[in-house]
Amino acid sequence: MSLSEPTIFERIVAREIPADIVFENDRVIAFRDIAPQASLHLLVVPKTANYSNVAELAAGDAALLAEVVDIASRLASDHSNGQYRLVFNTGADAGQTVFHVHAHVLSGALEEGTLAS
Ligand code: 5GP
Repeated sequence: MSLSEPTIFERIVAREIPADIVFENDRVIAFRDIAPQASLHLLVVPKTANYSNVAELAAGDAALLAEVVDIASRLASDHSNGQYRLVFNTGADAGQTVFHVHAHVLSGALEEGTLAS
């Protein structure tokens, strides 16, 4: 359990706010970004609130990071053409707004000026 205010992603995991969930297991949830920047824009999110960014996740639970990457790849195949960008924003200056580690999966046509370009 997180000691600070739950992030929006913890509230999605807890079903306190709705999301278009495309995948879930005991450790990871994936749902469509509310402000898509590509024809497919998913967020793949470890359920634990222990890690605020990808470097922390890599250091703390490398297997969980590998699982996030594997799920991202499979979802890009299931929902698009299997070709994708995987983006982990780290720090507010780099565009991170939710400090609960998450992978952006961007596939298909990208919007102008997306976080991935
Ligand atoms: P960040 O800017 O931290 O890398 O990514 C956070 C992402 O979460 C943004 O792309 C933003 O559109 C998305 N987001 C913020 N609030 C919600 C929400 O309530 N539901 C969903 N599905 N996505 C959200």
